[in-house]
Amino acid sequence: MAEILDGKVMSETLRAEIAEKVAGLKKKGVTPGLAVILAGDDPASEIYVRNKGKGCQEVGMHSETVRLPGNVSQAELEAEIDRLNADPGIHGILVQLPLPAHLDEESALARILPEKDVDGFHLLNAGRLMTGGAGVIPCTPRGAMYMIQQTGLDLSGLEAVVIGRSNIVGKPMAALLMRANCTVTVCHSRTRNLKDHCRRADILVAAVGKAGFVTGDMIKPGAVVIDVGINRVDGKVRGDVDFESASRVAGWITPVPGGVGKMTITMLLQNTLEAAERSLG
Ligand code: NDP
Repeated sequence: MAEILDGKVMSETLRAEIAEKVAGLKKKGVTPGLAVILAGDDPASEIYVRNKGKGCQEVGMHSETVRLPGNVSQAELEAEIDRLNADPGIHGILVQLPLPAHLDEESALARILPEKDVDGFHLLNAGRLMTGGAGVIPCTPRGAMYMIQQTGLDLSGLEAVVIGRSNIVGKPMAALLMRANCTVTVCHSRTRNLKDHCRRADILVAAVGKAGFVTGDMIKPGAVVIDVGINRVDGKVRGDVDFESASRVAGWITPVPGGVGKMTITMLLQNTLEAAERSLG
């Protein structure tokens, strides 16, 4: 049976370290602050935003949620971003996605100052990740990478397969694995012989958005299996990996819930802490 990579336990350790550093910054007169902009009333987004606020509270950070109506204009949204960009008490700004369909997501993300872009979605941060520079790393892949490192494996030269090529998960995940000297394959909906690719993987990351998509027969014995998926099925949260069959073959596996999702918010707190530290120079 696979060893569980427990996001809850890892998060507790990391959050305790973050809380300690926040206390240190407060002594220097800086309270790290995160602002989350929520446009409209998507129920899933409401839950994510609430959890982000709770996370901030837990580590002693300041947090504020800017609620905008679902019919907010692009100009009004960007005016809010400008206001937060100029606010010295706010070190991290996050626009909760997805935005209502009439709004231009790309242009909103580009409006956030790169140094306050704690989601790491700004083009400058995405570019830095690809070119090896020091930028903000998107929270979900950063959390997933941390979990992979907790296996203690020497990652250099390992075969890594990422299923999914989105800008927020698949692509940055592939970039981080490449940085760790893995040999990386990125699969997507047009990939042929997906199973064959997966079975070669020492590290398999599933970011597909389909419940139970990866089954035990697609996994190399002993592999590290990272399940990024969050899918709601009959009121329950399920991952992209069929945990039951996969955990019998894998060497390590992340559960859903209690895996990558938990780490995502922890990495958001880490990114906000680092942004506050940078603001001190
Ligand atoms: P997207 O829908 O943007 O991307 C899904 C990717 O999966 C696409 O690249 C798509 O390929 C690929 N795909 C779809 N069907 C198949 C298939 N049959 N075979 C192979 N590849 C396929 O999703 P996200 O990247 O935003 O999210 C992925 C999952 O991760 C979701 O469940 C989401 O809820 C979850 N998530 C979890 C987070 C967390 O905190 N744990 C944070 C963010 C997301 P193509 O490009 O060709 O369409």
